[in-house]
Amino acid sequence: MLIYKFGGSSLGNAEGIRNITDIVKKAPENLVVVVSALGKTTNALERVVKHQLDGNLTKAGKELETIRQFHQTIVTGLFGSTDNETGKELNNSFRDLGEFIKKAPSSGYDQTYDQIVSRGELWSTRIIAFWLMKNEIPVRWMDIREYLKTDNIFRDAHVDWQVSGSLILKEFNNPGSERLITQGFIGSTTGGLSTTLGREGSDYTAAVLAYVLDAKKVVIWKDVPGVMSADPAIFPDAEKLDELSYHEALEMAYYGAKVIHPKTIKPLHNKNIPLYVKSFHSPDEPGTIIHLVDHPLDLVPVYVIKRDQILVSVAPKDYSFIVEENLGKIFSLFNIYRISVNLIQNSAVSITMCVNQTNGQVYKVINELKKDFVVRFNEDVDLVTIRYYNREAIDKMTRGRKVLLEQMSRLTAQLVLK
Ligand code: ADP
Ligand code: ASP
Ligand code: MG
Repeated sequence: MLIYKFGGSSLGNAEGIRNITDIVKKAPENLVVVVSALGKTTNALERVVKHQLDGNLTKAGKELETIRQFHQTIVTGLFGSTDNETGKELNNSFRDLGEFIKKAPSSGYDQTYDQIVSRGELWSTRIIAFWLMKNEIPVRWMDIREYLKTDNIFRDAHVDWQVSGSLILKEFNNPGSERLITQGFIGSTTGGLSTTLGREGSDYTAAVLAYVLDAKKVVIWKDVPGVMSADPAIFPDAEKLDELSYHEALEMAYYGAKVIHPKTIKPLHNKNIPLYVKSFHSPDEPGTIIHLVDHPLDLVPVYVIKRDQILVSVAPKDYSFIVEENLGKIFSLFNIYRISVNLIQNSAVSITMCVNQTNGQVYKVINELKKDFVVRFNEDVDLVTIRYYNREAIDKMTRGRKVLLEQMSRLTAQLVLK
């Protein structure tokens, strides 16, 4: 078995979908293709959810119409018009979703979010399946929600490995020349409600399928040559890394390198399944291989930048020690608001944390904390992580910027920069 995964950045237009045709056609037998939503569809659907829950149905409807047109433009780009099975099916699905968002939310935010946002992957896979069929590639479209079963923690659902394992094995094993096309990022509860696995979670779906099916390898096809020493969109001189250990890839993903979702590595490591990151522009190039490495790797400094961070310092008002008495309380607040803490530094009477600022949830935590603590914060900072750092690498990152915090371990330097 072989698992291929294509992400939204590879599939932002008809050209992107055309690009993958040959790759899918040339793949050996027994292939599962995992696809995420087209382009920035998930972000756009998040805006629909926001308007819907704000009670602004006009705005929600407009946003949805923009998404529909985006998809239909791609359909036209592929099939010449929308007057065909693909176009009609899409219009029906959008109409259906339009009806759904008109109904007042009868459930919590996260549950509604998953029912709406999960559509992106359903649309993309339908379009791609129709397109491959038109190109005489035998395909079977699979609704992953029938097989990938999760708990009901909407927006961050956890896979029920036992139930999913047997369902997936039954339907996905050895499909022969038929290419199985399915959705990343989504699943469903045993009650049949759609769930999502966390943003950027399609990579993880590929790893789950690989684990269950004992795949020979997973290939994540990207708009970049492989895993690079930094985000090439920010650092044009970034170098491609030919080989990484599971551990190194996990560290990079954990620190925020967007190229792989951090949850992807564990299932692959557990079954020793290699992960290739390759460019769909040059499919014959080797890309990056992530696997079990038993020799030392000579790595260049690797940079990971997390933007939109806020540095929050918390100190007890009564001068009590921070660690013994207060840590549990502070972290449980971040946990309740689902804010991940990206860096921690403590002294006797204060703790400083670098956390994601996006979506403003952090201000709710700050307000809660202010009830019991003295809270100070610095907004709009970057968290820069350098693996295999050296003086030159640190100078390169800090030049002309104010360093608010610095933390060094043997292999990793982390800097909070204004
Ligand atoms: P997909 O939609 O296929 O999941 P993403 O947009 O999530 O793709 O990830 C690909 C992008 O990740 C690249 O376009 C690149 O800008 C960015 N990126 C960030 N860090 C790295 C890195 N170290 N190596 C390669 N790409 C990176
Ligand atoms: N479409 C989802 C997202 O944008 C999942 C993914 O791209 O992996 O988060
Ligand atoms: Mg991604």
